Amino acid sequence: MRRWIICILCLFLLCSSAEAATLKRGTRGEGVREMQQWLIELGYLHDEADGVFGKKTEAAVKAYQKSVNKKQTGTLTAEQADELMFLWMEITGAMEGDGLGEDELKELYPDGCAWTEAETEYCWRHFELGRLYSLLHYDLPDQAVLLLTERLVPQYEDALMALYDEWSETDPDKAAEEQEKFETFLSEHEEQMVNAYGADSAVVMKDLAVWLHSACVDLCFDLHTAASYE
Ligand SMILES: [Zn+2]
Repeated sequence: MRRWIICILCLFLLCSSAEAATLKRGTRGEGVREMQQWLIELGYLHDEADGVFGKKTEAAVKAYQKSVNKKQTGTLTAEQADELMFLWMEITGAMEGDGLGEDELKELYPDGCAWTEAETEYCWRHFELGRLYSLLHYDLPDQAVLLLTERLVPQYEDALMALYDEWSETDPDKAAEEQEKFETFLSEHEEQMVNAYGADSAVVMKDLAVWLHSACVDLCFDLHTAASYE
């Protein structure tokens, strides 16, 4: 699974092995500059990436640690720096796809999405969306939420559209009726949200992602999972 990501990580570790030490106040160099760049892009650091780990960088590292429910040490071990890099890659889209073909995915993941008591189980079509969606459970800065939802929302819209198309092959009238119902509901709901929080705000985009996620998982369950229980 995710073989190329592991390859990239290995390359990254090889390239940066000289600076694999813990990044902390007073550390300087390319490793710090790179980490600052990730923190800036995700909205934790409002400064230049100058390669010097100072007070502002330390505060940004703590803010990052707090937002992902980690202990706020203000320092990053090599492993923690990799975790930050992965978050940055996921959110900015530097990491897309896992290089597996559809047949391989079908072997690894169930045919339909399902809700379990503790979490959502994603199918082979939607596991990647689900992985991105799960990042919204962190308390990310608005900038990161916007970056993430700008990618997530259109992908959910496409996924939902594909499900309605699939449904319409067996029951075109019902599919069209339900799709229209959902779209009307969503646009009315969004209008209220936009009036309350402003267009393109992080709150509105996150809310939109939540609704599209639920609709997608529900419909996927109805079309693919429920049938296997019958
Ligand atoms: Zn699914």
